[in-house]
Amino acid sequence: MARKNRDEVSSWHMEPEPTLCLICERVIPDDQKEDHHLVPKSKGGKITVPLHRVCHRQIHAIFTDGQLAKTFSTISALLEDPAMQKFVAWIKSKPPGFSDAAKDSKQVSGRNRRP
Ligand SMILES: [Zn+2]
Ligand SMILES: [Zn+2]
Repeated sequence: MARKNRDEVSSWHMEPEPTLCLICERVIPDDQKEDHHLVPKSKGGKITVPLHRVCHRQIHAIFTDGQLAKTFSTISALLEDPAMQKFVAWIKSKPPGFSDAAKDSKQVSGRNRRP
């Protein structure tokens, strides 16, 4: 009865490159990654870019599919919009793991600091 000692297969250890959000330029955690169609699918768009869920939602909160297809079908056009700029300035001040879920938590006063 010979038992084989199998070596651990280590080929699974390839770390994927971190994906950066084109809106806020922070790393996107896998569970917050969403694909945004630069031209909405409903308008025949096929090119997608990876964004944070929260950044993606913001885009669709500000712009209609018609506006996206016509005027805001590039990241630079999106970033030139004052409403997006305001959002980006805000989201950049958040930690990388920040998600929109945090907005649902109770408002805390500025005294709630942890070391
Ligand atoms: Zn983002
Ligand atoms: Zn989208």
